[in-house]
Amino acid sequence: MKGLITYAENTWCPGCGNFGILNAVQKAVKLLEERGVTKDKILITAGIGCHGKIFDYLALSGLYSLHGRSMATAQGMKLGNPELKVIAFAGDGDAFGEGISHVIFSGKRNADYTLVIHDNGVYALTTGQFSPLSPKGFKSPSSPKGTPEPPFNPLKLALISGATFVARGFSARPDHLANLIAEAVMHPGFAIVDVLQPCVTFNNTYQLYNQRVKILEKPAESLEEALKLVEIGERIYIGVIYRRTSQPYHEAIYGNYNPRKDSPSKDERVRRALSLLEENFTPSPLRS
Ligand code: SF4
Repeated sequence: MKGLITYAENTWCPGCGNFGILNAVQKAVKLLEERGVTKDKILITAGIGCHGKIFDYLALSGLYSLHGRSMATAQGMKLGNPELKVIAFAGDGDAFGEGISHVIFSGKRNADYTLVIHDNGVYALTTGQFSPLSPKGFKSPSSPKGTPEPPFNPLKLALISGATFVARGFSARPDHLANLIAEAVMHPGFAIVDVLQPCVTFNNTYQLYNQRVKILEKPAESLEEALKLVEIGERIYIGVIYRRTSQPYHEAIYGNYNPRKDSPSKDERVRRALSLLEENFTPSPLRS
């Protein structure tokens, strides 16, 4: 194992947008180290799907989660040790199908972690069924005549839920994406980075995104402006779209308390329990 590289064999299809995301995360970790965030302070988790393999390809500590549950796992990690920077990876089906409630509640409570969405608009690992972010009319094994439903706009949903850092990246712009991910990790609160990720096998969107993607020069100054900037149209903006400050969830619960560092030791907990028993337990006269 050298740097962030692991021994795991990479099984993504050649040309998959996931390679760009992996490359961007590796660069983002270097940027974070330059800002004083050492690798041992970064914890990762992932859901199930092609995206989830990124967990095997990064030599970072963490926990593989369940389908749609990396967002819940990330919140638990942060509450367990608020000193850590937590990154959750999720596919678009994983996050906005199975795990949608966790995304909404992450925004509602401003849970302090970074959610990286591998947004390929399809359930790719299970051979190409339509996902909650597939475009209307998308033909797939589960929608042979084209899906009649319009997709969610993931960033609109995040903004309405209360996310305090909202960004969009493109896997074919890994340097730009690395900066977005580093900024998101440094943000205190719920940060979501929706990454446009072509799936060359089931939903190849390289041409579409290369034609339409445009780098946003500065974030929106209001929620209303942000809601307009995240629309998918002739222009698809990438960059930090919205950011604001608000108290993160763990601070609202704990203040400055850190359960990892400040909890009493096991010996101390036993001593306190015994002393409570001694103070409150009166032996029965029949047994004395
Ligand atoms: Fe990537 Fe699609 Fe292949 Fe999965 S099926 S590895 S998302 S190209």
